[in-house]
Parts: sequence; C-alpha cells; structure tokens
Amino acid sequence: MKNIALADEHSSFERPHFDVEAVRRQFPVLARRVHGRPLAYLDNGASAQRPEAVIDAVDDYERHHHANVHRGVHTLSQEATALYEGARDRLVQFINARSRHEVIFVRGTTEAINLVAQSYARPILKAGDEILITYLEHHANIVPWQLVCEQTGATLVVAPMDSRGEVHLDAVESLMSSRTRLFACAHVSNALGTVLPVRRLMAAARARGIVSLIDGAQAVPHMSVDMQDLDCDFYAFSGHKMFGPTGIGALYGREALLERMPPWQGGGDMILAVSFAGTTYNTLPYKFEAGTPNISGAIGLGAAVEFLAGLNRVAAHAHESALLDHATRALSGIPKLRIVGTAGDKASLISFVVAGVHPHDLGTILDGDGIAIRTGHHCAMPVMEFFDLAATARASFAFYNTFEEVDRLAAAIERARKIFT
Ligand code: PMP
Repeated sequence: MKNIALADEHSSFERPHFDVEAVRRQFPVLARRVHGRPLAYLDNGASAQRPEAVIDAVDDYERHHHANVHRGVHTLSQEATALYEGARDRLVQFINARSRHEVIFVRGTTEAINLVAQSYARPILKAGDEILITYLEHHANIVPWQLVCEQTGATLVVAPMDSRGEVHLDAVESLMSSRTRLFACAHVSNALGTVLPVRRLMAAARARGIVSLIDGAQAVPHMSVDMQDLDCDFYAFSGHKMFGPTGIGALYGREALLERMPPWQGGGDMILAVSFAGTTYNTLPYKFEAGTPNISGAIGLGAAVEFLAGLNRVAAHAHESALLDHATRALSGIPKLRIVGTAGDKASLISFVVAGVHPHDLGTILDGDGIAIRTGHHCAMPVMEFFDLAATARASFAFYNTFEEVDRLAAAIERARKIFT
C-alpha cells in the first residue's frame, strides 16, 4: 500500500489503480533478501521473474503429466500433448494471430529470427538484394542477417537513429527500395528503451511489398501486441522476458509465407512420411518444430500468458510508465549521471552512465545493496559505439517494481558516485 501512496504523490491521479503489493505476492523470489537487503530486481529486460502460476504449471506437468507429445496413444502422452497444444492456443489468442498454424514454438527470439533468416530469406536472396534493419537492434536481430547476407551475397542496410535513440519513419522509408527483400526492426530497444513506431513502419514496408519482421522480445512484457493490427509478417518473442520459462519462445508467421518456406531443421515430428526416396513434411506449425520440443517450457509459457491476460494491462502499463517517469526524474538529479536514450516514447527501461564510475563497479556496489541492475553492452554494441561508450548501466522495470525500489536505486547510485568521484 505504501507504494501506491507514493505512486499517487509522484504522478497523475488519473492513473488506474494497480495493486503492486498484491501482484508482488504472486512472485515468490521478490520476497527474498540479497546481501541482507530486500531484493530490488531491476533487471527485467534481461529476464523477468516467474509468478507462482507459472512455477505451479511447470511443477504440475513434471509431477503428473510428463511424456513425449504427439506420438503416444497412452494417457500421459495425450495429457502432455493437450497441455502443450493448449499453451499454443493461449498464445494464438494472446497475440491475436489468425490461426494456430501461425504460432511456432522455438527456443526464443534468437532462434525465431535465425529461423526466418535461414528458411525465409536464404532461399530467395541473391547478390544485389538488401535486408534493412535499424541501428538500435539487439545482436539477435543483426547477426542472423549478416550470416544470411554472407551466404547469399545480399547486403545489410542499416537505417539510422538520432541522438535520442529514435528511429524515424522517413529515414527508414528512404532506404526501402525495390532491392529490399525484408525489413526487420525491434518493437522496443533493449539498450535504450525506445518504442519504435512499428505500425507505421510495417505499413511502409507493406505498401512497398517488403516482408517484415518485428523483434518483440522487449515489447511483449510491457504491452498488448496484436498481430492482425500490427500487420507484420513475422514477430519474434521470448518466454523468459514475459514471466515464463527460459528456453521457450515463439515465432508468429503469416500463414501464406510459412506455407511457402522450407523446413529449417529436419527430424522427427516435422514429417508426415519419410522414405529414402523422399520425405513429406508435416503441416503447420509442426513443419518448423523438429524433434522433441521444450514441453514444460511451452506449458509454463502458456501459464505466463494466462497470468498476463488476467492482469489489468492498462493499469500495469500506467504503473510502469510512472516508474519510468519517477526514475528519470530521480536519476536526472544525480550529478555526473547521463541518461542514454531519451526517446519520446520509451518502455520502462533506463540506461545511464555516471562519469568516473565504471558501470560494472556501479553494478557491483548496487548488488551489495540488494539491487539487481544490468551493466555492459546489452548485446547492442553498435548502440554503444554510436554513443561512444563501452557499456552502460541499465535498470529495467516490470509492473511488480515499486517507487521505493526506484528511490533505493537513486540513493545507491549517489552513494557509489561519492565513493568514486
Ligand atoms: N532482442 C531483444 C530486443 C532482446 O532484448 C533480446 C534479449 N536480451 C533478444 C532479442 C534475444 O532474446 P533471447 O536471448 O531470449 O533469444
């Protein structure tokens, strides 16, 4: 309750009510202490914590239902299959895909993007073709395209960002041409927090007949995403950033494109019939799910989706925005601190540097106070290069974070600054 009172002091009274303490109680790890201090977990951009609903769903599966999926006539196999496919159905609804053929379970965002690069792009690319991305991408949305460009002779083209970390529609549009075979961009930058104008970017791609992919790893935890509204061709995201397990994520793909794409990996489950004369591939989505999948992970992800769907996401988003505003104000008041990434539209993530204090030292001192932040290049080395930095410190907030935690963060940074400068 204290947090809510604080929240009301700090921002608009029109913000919908959000009971942070009630939400926190559903995340067991948030009750623990680190180095004798209450944990302030501000590293959600790297991986978010799991609610009891997810832990319980995985536990129930492991204790009572585990068997391999799809192939068994026995009870446990049928139960495991129903749970696994039920999780897919939840995801389909959650992202408003048109059909369950469009949602493929993968290891995470990284694997989803590699799948598209190798299965969609590689067969169609030739020398002279271009893949267009933006400057602020995570390495997972850079390197798979570099690889496929090396394999095919195509060229990787990078749309610029400005000094606030914004990517502008006109700058991207001016690089879209008849040579552009695919446009890929982040929905939200993990290094800067920038929310990209994806609807307008997708419309620009579509108007030119360019196939599009969105890296939604940092968006899905913070906002509702609707595939039919976004009108992208591919959308990739990771379970562990949206309060689900690691090693599981999903690729949304437009059915007509997925139908045309060859399988990425071959093996069991992705076939209907195999003989030495040739193989008939399975139907969607199984064509892209070779081998025994991460069954418990998918079930946990289904539970995470159900948890998120049961949350008042408008209120959760408003709470996160208020946390970001509060953090921006608090950190701006610290001498020698510079916020890196000042876009007009940001998710609840704040990257910063303090002159004279190495981000890793800062991270270590904050850990001593029980405060978990991330320091480093955030797998976005071009972004670091752009700002002429080797690393930043990054606090990334989820809806379970509190204003008190933000105040602790600011106070600890100030203490660290005084030690070093
Ligand atoms: N894209 C973005 C924007 C990310 O933040 C991350 C994870 N940091 C990834 C892609 C890669 O996600 P994963 O490691 O779960 O595959």
